[in-house]
Amino acid sequence: MISEEEARTKILEAIQPLPERTVSLFRALDCFSGQDLVARLPMPGFDNSAMDGYAVVASSCRRGERLRVIGEQPAGVDRGIRVSPSEAARIFTGAPMPVGADAVVMQEDISRDGDEIVLNVDVDAGDFVRRRGCDLSEGQKILSKGERVRAATLALLASQGFSEVIIGGEVDVAIISTGDELVKPGTRIKQGQIYESNSVLLQSLLQRCNATVRSVENCPDDQRSLTEALKRGIRYHVLIISGGVSVGEHDIVKSTLLSLGAKIDIWRVAIKPGKPFLFGQAGSCAVFGLPGNPVSTFVTFLQFVRPAALKMMSASDGELALTKVTAESEIDLHNDGERAHYVRGRFENGKFLTVGRQESHAIFGLSQSNALLRLAPGESVKKGAAVELQLWD
Ligand code: AMP
Ligand code: MG
Repeated sequence: MISEEEARTKILEAIQPLPERTVSLFRALDCFSGQDLVARLPMPGFDNSAMDGYAVVASSCRRGERLRVIGEQPAGVDRGIRVSPSEAARIFTGAPMPVGADAVVMQEDISRDGDEIVLNVDVDAGDFVRRRGCDLSEGQKILSKGERVRAATLALLASQGFSEVIIGGEVDVAIISTGDELVKPGTRIKQGQIYESNSVLLQSLLQRCNATVRSVENCPDDQRSLTEALKRGIRYHVLIISGGVSVGEHDIVKSTLLSLGAKIDIWRVAIKPGKPFLFGQAGSCAVFGLPGNPVSTFVTFLQFVRPAALKMMSASDGELALTKVTAESEIDLHNDGERAHYVRGRFENGKFLTVGRQESHAIFGLSQSNALLRLAPGESVKKGAAVELQLWD
């Protein structure tokens, strides 16, 4: 059995980013940038008005001053107007500043009198002018390789005139749920059978990290069916097998993978829940065997599969972990075991409280939780202490 950290390091060493691709901005949300990108335009691109009002020469503008309106400068064209002291040009938000003007007076701050205006305020140079390049300079870095592309990143790229962006490769995933007892939801079950719930869990978590699920199958615990299912599954970048990785006679995933020539790099990790976790490689396919108990599947997916899939998508190291927050624990907690314990609970209003039972089959408690608290072996937490949580929702 190896430590959780060793397991993650080993997995990430074995995983390489897939070739990058160019996609429309509309397909890039939550993907990872495939390159460093710098601004090719200053922002704003030209001095322009921040208000609807009048462009003026500030030095000649005191309260009570009368100015002649010599023209109108709308947004979208540059009319080449020239403004002198004692003159004003009607101007609108986003319109280029006329030559000679160095300030804008809001239309609320003047009185209009025919083709003249009277100022109701003093004016300073720079008032309501958005200077060329004040937000962003040409050549300034706007996106780093491996950074997650967010909605506002896309807006920034569009404002720079980009319609496409280079992002990490698409990760194709196959899921196999093993177990003779499993029945598809929506059908009838007999005594002793259970509804299969890990594949929808895994598909949803994969969707959240932008991986593409190409194949989902259920497979009984027999060697022939499993061999065929595994052969189909290892054609993808990632194969996730749920169940069948433990030590019982029906846990045949490991031996069947070996019989297909797969290399098993990891089996059994000091993590609770999730000890029988398996990682291997079959050709270029990264194979993850997750213990079938729903909470074990959940925890091992988030701790091992998710970072691997994100790395394949070119995510930087800083993007691989779940978002962390600090909270005040509402309870005493202690881990007297030898494995790192991922406690499920709720983070709310800055506090952390466990919910439901903490066994690996307890799917109701999991469904009420939104955060994981990692307790290292031997670690204790006192009620009221600050703890670091991993947010998964
Ligand atoms: P296993 O890892 O195959 O030994 O399974 C451990 C426990 O998880 C057993 O109680 C299984 O019935 C349950 N289990 C395995 N696979 C699934 C699944 N896909 N959905 C729900 N429960 C499962
Ligand atoms: Mg099983």
